[in-house]
This record gives sequence, C-alpha cells and structure tokens, in this order.
Amino acid sequence: MDFDLFVIGGGSAGVRCGRIAAGHGARVGVAEDRFWGGTCVNIGCVPKKFLVMAAEYGSTVEDARGFGWGASPGAHDWSALIAAKDKEISRLNAIYRRLLDQAGAKIFDARAKFIDAHTLDVGGERVTAERIVIATGGYPTGLSIPGAENAIISDDAFYLPEMPKRVAIIGGGYIGVEFAGIFAGLGAETHLIYRQPLPLRGFDEDMRTGLAEALTANGIVLHPDVVPTSISLTETGKCIALSDSTMLDVDLVFFATGRAANTKGLGLEAAGVKLGEKGEVLVDERFATSVPHIFALGDVTDRLNLTPVATAEGHALADTLFGNRPRGVNLNNVPTAVFSIPPIATVGLTEAEAAKNGKVKIFVSKFTPMRHNLTGRVRKTVMKLVVDEATDKVLGAHILGEDAPEMMQGIAVAITAGATKADFDRTIGIHPTAAEEFVTLRTQTRVAGPGIGPV
Ligand code: NDP
Repeated sequence: MDFDLFVIGGGSAGVRCGRIAAGHGARVGVAEDRFWGGTCVNIGCVPKKFLVMAAEYGSTVEDARGFGWGASPGAHDWSALIAAKDKEISRLNAIYRRLLDQAGAKIFDARAKFIDAHTLDVGGERVTAERIVIATGGYPTGLSIPGAENAIISDDAFYLPEMPKRVAIIGGGYIGVEFAGIFAGLGAETHLIYRQPLPLRGFDEDMRTGLAEALTANGIVLHPDVVPTSISLTETGKCIALSDSTMLDVDLVFFATGRAANTKGLGLEAAGVKLGEKGEVLVDERFATSVPHIFALGDVTDRLNLTPVATAEGHALADTLFGNRPRGVNLNNVPTAVFSIPPIATVGLTEAEAAKNGKVKIFVSKFTPMRHNLTGRVRKTVMKLVVDEATDKVLGAHILGEDAPEMMQGIAVAITAGATKADFDRTIGIHPTAAEEFVTLRTQTRVAGPGIGPV
C-alpha cells in the first residue's frame, strides 16, 4: 500500500485527522480539490463571523452616542469588507495546508474517487491505502420551486459583488438567522421567511421567542408559518411569492434551507460504503463505515454538523488508529452558538427535552443589558437554567444576548463536569457583568415535567 491512511477532504475533520495521524508516524496522504480548511475556514464559520462583526460595528457606533460620542456610522464599503475578509481567509487557508505539510503528510490538490475499497483515483493518479477516511463535508441545498435558479446559497453570499439593498432569506435555521443579522446590520431591508411559528426549531422556546423579538427590534421583517412558492425576475430585481399570498420585491433571494452530505461522485458504491436516506455516510461510534477499514468524519456523516465536533472526531480517529489511544467522541452536552445579532448560545437540554424525562426546575431571567440603559437600544438578554428536580443537576443552560457564546464556553465546562444548581449558587459572581446572573438565579420561574408546565 502507498499509504497507511488516505484522507479525502481537507476540512476541519480531514486536516486534523491527517495531521495527528502523521504525527503518530503514519504514512498519510490528504486530497482536497477546492480549498484547504473546508467550509468552516472558507465559506462558513470564520468568514461568517467577520461579516457578523462588520454588521455589529454600525450599531456599536450608534450606541456610542449614548456615551457622549458624537459618532454616526457613515457609509459602509462592502468591497473593502470582502477584500479584508478574503485576505485573512487566504492566510488561514495556507496555514491549514502548511500544518499538514509540516506534519509530514503528502498533499494532493486534487479530487479523489474510489476505484475499489483500497484504491483511489487522485487527480488521475492511482493511490492505494490501508485505511481511508471520507471527510468531504456538506453543501448547502436550496428548494425545488419555480425560479429557484434566481436564488443564491450561502457559498455565494461570501462573494457577492455588491451589498444588496433588499434581501429575502428563506429558512429560519442557523444560517438564515445569522445572515439576516448580517444584511440588516449592513443596512439592507431584510425579510426572514420560515415555515415554523418561530425561528431555530430545536432550540429552547424562551430563546426562540426572545430571538424573534430581537430580530424584529433590529428591523428584520419576520414571515413565520410560510413557505416560498416561486421566485421570478423583475425589471429591478426579484419577486418572491409566499404561501400566504405575500409578494416581496427584493434584490437578493437567499436559500438557507439546510445542508446535505457531500457524497456524490466519490465512487462510494465501488468501495461498498453504505449511505443513509439523506445521502449521508453511515458510521458506528468509532467512525467506521459499512467497510471496516473505511471511516467517515464530520458533516459527511450528518450527525452534529459543527466544526469542533469534526475536529474532535478527526483527532479521536487518528489517536485510535495510530496513537494507541482508542476512543470515540461524546456528543452529549456539546455547546453551540448561533451568531445572530444578538447571539444565542446553548449547552445541554432544552426545557422541552428535559421535561419529557422528568420534573425540572426552570430559572429564567430577562433583562436589559447594562450598556443599553444608556444607549436606549431595545435589546434584552435572556438567561435560562434547566435543573433536574431530583438530583439538582443543571441539565441545560441557554443564553440569548451579547457575548452569549463567550459566556457559554465556561458554563459548558461546569455542565460537562456535572455541576448542580447548588454549585452555581455557591459560585461568587463577577460584577458588573451579565454573566453573574447565572450565579444569582434564586427565584424559580416554574416547574416543568411530563404533563406539567408550558411544554
Ligand atoms: P438548518 O437545518 O439549521 O435550518 C434549515 C432551515 O430551512 C430550517 O428553518 C428549516 O425549517 C428550513 N427548511 C428546510 N427545508 C425546507 C423546506 N422544504 N421548505 C421550507 N423551509 C425548509 O440549516 P442551515 O442551512 O441553517 O445550516 C446547516 C447546518 O450547518 C446547521 O444545522 C448547523 O449544523 C451548521 N451551522 C452551524 C453554525 C454555527 O455553529 N454557528 C452556523 C451555520 C451552520 P424546519 O426547521 O421547519 O425544518
């Protein structure tokens, strides 16, 4: 065999797996045909966060007036933002490639395809490997409605030639609410269209309600309980028709309607790798596919599609195969954040999930963050703990508000360590912060449980 391990895909999962395996002394090859660092670095988390930061600066400048500054935001230069973002992404992109190179992995800037279970075609070269990892990620999917070709997906949003003045975003998931904040913050008339009563299905109800209020306060027009039926071209832009008969004239229509596993054209059938109903690669708890020496990691397995999960999986697999440290990745209590404006961060169970299993004590606090008592901006922070009544264990923590993701990482450590509400209560607060609210939540808001409470 040419390699001990061949990794298809140079994203978060693949690069980590290849790098750590090479560090353990394995002969490693990695193929990537688009961009090193994958979705997260190039057309996902990282550039998205730059755009969110850009969007926040406008309101920060406005808010400074409340503190005596004679400031106003002025015009925003979209091209300057995209150029600055692209420069940074190129730097990161090169770092990812270099990390692998320095670890001793052989790099292929090419597409890989299975010929059989141990043989790949990598950019026209035949390569054999003892073990193979599929880490090809996912891609954004749109809807099959008339005129769908007139809409963009998130890949395109990072390279728009100019900032649209009127935007319709379809989908109320992570990407939909994040880009709604970006476009609205940069000055566009922004419509968010989703088929649920509230955005972010699966998140805690108090967060979802608070987010809908916050998006409205930011000037975003919400269209709940509707689906788009068609998109047509007009003389000035696009017209999107909704199931409630609304017609919206906009410059940009954006599908943020989910992502699918990137498995097409990989020759997986030649290798005998089994796929699930949605085209995802099926794996066991040690990332093995239906073919024991072929593994799959990250978004291509469509389980918990988050970068830190993908990197943890890549690391665990490399340690298992070549580092004499066999392990999987525990997907309980994985913290996550939605970089809406303001953001949401969460760890553990929602009230509804926890209440299915037993009685839970609910603590909710909703308040105006200190800063906005001077700025006058209408923006609330919502903090919530879900506590098991029997054991006092904190089962879930949720924040909607400025700095929520920064706060949540530390809370996630406490919850991973099994903290109880009493542990939160005996922790001294840091004053004056929003975070201190978590250790001063004394008044129980309600009790929930099977058949009890609002859920
Ligand atoms: P999500 O699955 O989060 O949201 C998809 C949205 O599209 C939902 O509102 C969904 O509605 C809606 N939708 C799906 N199909 C249809 C349909 N046929 N008609 C109308 N609406 C539809 O996907 P995203 O694209 O926002 O993001 C993909 C994934 O990427 C996320 O789930 C997450 O794992 C990851 N991600 C993580 C980020 C982070 O960590 N900050 C940021 C961005 C992405 P419904 O709820 O009713 O199904």
